[in-house]
Amino acid sequence: IKEDGQKVYKKTTSQAIMSATQLGIGFSVGRLSAKPERDVLMQDFYFVEKVWFPSDGSRETPSHKFDNFRFKCYAPAAFRYFRDLFGIEPSDFLISLANEPIKEIGNPGASGSLFFVSNDDMFIVKTVQHKEATFLQQLLPGYYMNLHQNPRTLLPKFFGLYCYQAGTSNIRLTVMNNLLPSKYKCHVKFDLKGSTYKRKASKSERSKSSPTLKDLDFSQIYPNGITLDHETYDAVIKTISRDVRVLESFSIMDYSFLLGIHNIEQSVRDRKMSSPQTHRNPEREARKNEFSAKLEAIQLSNENEEEVRPAGVIPAKNDKGERLYLFIGIIDILQSYRLAKKMEHGFKSMLTDGDTVSVHKPSFYAKRFLDFIKDNVFKRSAVQRQPTKRRAK
Ligand code: ATP
Ligand code: CA
Ligand code: CA
Repeated sequence: IKEDGQKVYKKTTSQAIMSATQLGIGFSVGRLSAKPERDVLMQDFYFVEKVWFPSDGSRETPSHKFDNFRFKCYAPAAFRYFRDLFGIEPSDFLISLANEPIKEIGNPGASGSLFFVSNDDMFIVKTVQHKEATFLQQLLPGYYMNLHQNPRTLLPKFFGLYCYQAGTSNIRLTVMNNLLPSKYKCHVKFDLKGSTYKRKASKSERSKSSPTLKDLDFSQIYPNGITLDHETYDAVIKTISRDVRVLESFSIMDYSFLLGIHNIEQSVRDRKMSSPQTHRNPEREARKNEFSAKLEAIQLSNENEEEVRPAGVIPAKNDKGERLYLFIGIIDILQSYRLAKKMEHGFKSMLTDGDTVSVHKPSFYAKRFLDFIKDNVFKRSAVQRQPTKRRAK
């Protein structure tokens, strides 16, 4: 919805949401750093910190130009621990989300949620529905048990869950990892579910400079899929299989495989056409690189790799033999089939529910999703991963 060019979500301008988020996260991270670190206890998952931000400011909070609001931070100690596990320093989190501006990005999805990206490209802030936020809260203990057992995952990395309350609106926000660093132009990106029903991007989406396409578009553009050398293929499929099993165990459905494709040959062609790019802050670029779908995240070793390929990127080829860099991850995992009726009974009933429909539907979804990725999206190259002779220019 738009009103004098400003996006409005739940009667609140995106500008107000953005500023409140920055103030709220800044306050919460600051307060937390004053407390000593300790092991996470079960009750930490359910603790909610609430802070009142009057427009005029208070002893603890700065003044601001919006209406009075309350900011809730869910499970702050637990999320601090997870950020630590993901290698995110408190100071980096603070700089990226509270000190530097964040900007709104368009959402090709249908849900109407807002997306913001931090200036350094590391974090995405997404508004989520009430039931998704409640689900994430309930999911945290189980989700992170999985993370401990299997840190090499392509599931979203959740860094925080918040609620901004102003007037009568409650706007819930998650902070997660950005899978598509802007440093590499994604010539095309796909949001894939393994379904064919209504899985074609709209005309208006397709006319964008960096459109998000869907399953039917993929099958049309890549009828032969994308080729991975067999080590990479095995690692990717192994990781996705494990992740999908976890999602199925929570009766989660409707998630997507996000696939960003940077075509090296095309970017060389494009660069020849246009003037050379200006150099940017190298330190920040380096920080971007160590991010998103890291190669280590899918159990690969980097030895024998002569090509200067940036960390965190998956090498592949299209059927013309052009070299590609892939950015991948599983997104939008907060819809659970069992959720609606089981939520109020908490985490245990999510696991022990005997309802057969809520077992079958998610397992059907999971199988179709995985089959599509392993049979249609990726092809396993028969040849050994060939050490590249040429250096990337
Ligand atoms: P819907 O429920 O209608 O599918 P949504 O509002 O829940 O949409 P998502 O499905 O989470 O939104 O994401 C929509 C799009 O936003 C994705 O197709 C992708 O292009 C982009 N996106 C989402 N999460 C990320 C992420 N972590 N990194 C980069 N891009 C993302
Ligand atoms: Ca989605
Ligand atoms: Ca969604």
